Amino acid sequence: LKFVDGHCREKKLTNTSKGWGPDRKRAAVNITFDNMGEVAERRLGLEPIMADSGKHLSIEILPRLLKMLENTPITYFIEGENTKAYPEAVKSVRDAGHEIGAHGWFHENWATTPVPDRRRALQEAVEAFRKLGVDVLGFRPPGGEIDLAELKPELNENQLAYASPLGEEGADRQQDQFVSLPFAWRHVDAYVLHPELGALRKMYGDPEKPYSNEHWRETIERTFEKIVAEGSHATLIFHPFILGRDQALIDVFDWAIKAVDNSPDIWAPTCVEMSSWAQKEKLFAA
Ligand SMILES: [Zn+2]
Repeated sequence: LKFVDGHCREKKLTNTSKGWGPDRKRAAVNITFDNMGEVAERRLGLEPIMADSGKHLSIEILPRLLKMLENTPITYFIEGENTKAYPEAVKSVRDAGHEIGAHGWFHENWATTPVPDRRRALQEAVEAFRKLGVDVLGFRPPGGEIDLAELKPELNENQLAYASPLGEEGADRQQDQFVSLPFAWRHVDAYVLHPELGALRKMYGDPEKPYSNEHWRETIERTFEKIVAEGSHATLIFHPFILGRDQALIDVFDWAIKAVDNSPDIWAPTCVEMSSWAQKEKLFAA
């Protein structure tokens, strides 16, 4: 895949003929979480958001989110460092039936970190998760922007099956045995909502001012309508530390989960389910 200004210029993939998943639904969505604890905020130079209890907000809110997701397995991309900082929280995600994917060790930006350093970071993360009894099969490169061809050796040496980099909605691809399930910036809650990410939004040509909660809810609703109309696939990213800031955002998340669960048209697998199904069907093969 070639990325220009953060956007993938390749033809969009739709899948109206085969349908999505074992029940051949019209559309597919991957609901995902990113970032645990304060590693990512520290790395990005943001002030970690703490709860009144003194815990990091992502840790404080986790049991509540897992309760909301009781019947909806999702994929949580977690930095390897959390196997040391918050091993119990990591295990609680696994024990609740969710998939855990790797998200670097210290949330290293994959596009700007030297290759030997990032390879070591991913290897250490995957090993640490496996030592904790968490079988990791996927990877979301922090910072996002990188192509599957460049990631292939890193996925291969860690026996990973897929990556979820920054890309465009519908730009899913398969190369050899690897699958790419990209996400778009506008489908990332932190990107559209975080007051301190105005410069990043501006850099990608979006308004500097964060979305209102209602604008975020409408964005998700339009996305669901669009993928059903097109027969396509989207990946949504929620951050527990963003959700924990505001009850209204928890309400948006709760609404989104229920909308997916109640939709007869949308398949919502974990990323690893999506990638193995796509491989079996040769769905994204170029
Ligand atoms: Zn991240």
